Amino acid sequence: MKFNVTLLVAAIVFAQLDAHSIHSEEPAMKPTWAIVIHGGAGSSPTQLGEESSQKRTAGLQHALQTGRDLLADGGTAMDTVEAVIRTLEDNPVFNAGRGSVLTNDGRVEMDASVMDGKTLGCGAVAGVTKTKNPISLARRVMTNTKHVLLVGPGADEFAETQQVPLVDPEYFLSQRHEDGAANIASANQEEDEPHFGTVGCVVLDSQGNLAAGTSTGGTAKKLPGRVGDSPIVGAGTYAANGLCAVSGTGVGEEYIRN
Ligand code: ASP
Repeated sequence: MKFNVTLLVAAIVFAQLDAHSIHSEEPAMKPTWAIVIHGGAGSSPTQLGEESSQKRTAGLQHALQTGRDLLADGGTAMDTVEAVIRTLEDNPVFNAGRGSVLTNDGRVEMDASVMDGKTLGCGAVAGVTKTKNPISLARRVMTNTKHVLLVGPGADEFAETQQVPLVDPEYFLSQRHEDGAANIASANQEEDEPHFGTVGCVVLDSQGNLAAGTSTGGTAKKLPGRVGDSPIVGAGTYAANGLCAVSGTGVGEEYIRN
């Protein structure tokens, strides 16, 4: 397998934990919690500039702390993944939710997915344009439908039936004209920075359950209707108890092909 693009995964892999309980003389370790997040492959801190980098670091720290607090309190892996990703979707410095990059005709089309490692249940949405938090909608697809993936207007309409908040598409554009976000948004639109700031989270909770989630605006200047790996379970997101939990970022076509 040969990649010519930057790809990054956040992953919890169970091999080490299993190895400990099988080979150690000590009693098997009680599962404790763990969390890994990512804020996207692509631009390095030097390309971003100091101010943008600081905002991204602060956003990641806030998201991580949200997850830690929930897990320390006995929160479930799935609840934690959703809550952590929501904070990143609400933060305009990431390419997900509010800060999503634009299609080549200047619109936002967002993709997201979740997977529950305990049940192997999964849910995803692609090409949503009005849903404020696509990760929450992906979770509702998993829990409240018999389907795995809803796309486009049908997915936004489903949000309405689930009390998942919808916003005017202007919501996704408004921050771009303000300080800081403007730089990030324009960097997002450069051809040589096609992947920037997708968000992902993988969690092991104190019950030993795994979950994973990924949310993105996709790649900058994508064709309208393009869907990447993030809402494709098994490409952008995967979780199975006792095995692993993974969220990927990078040019989605490479994940799907490989
Ligand atoms: N994987 C995402 C996509 O291809 C983009 C990214 O990770 O930055 O849609």
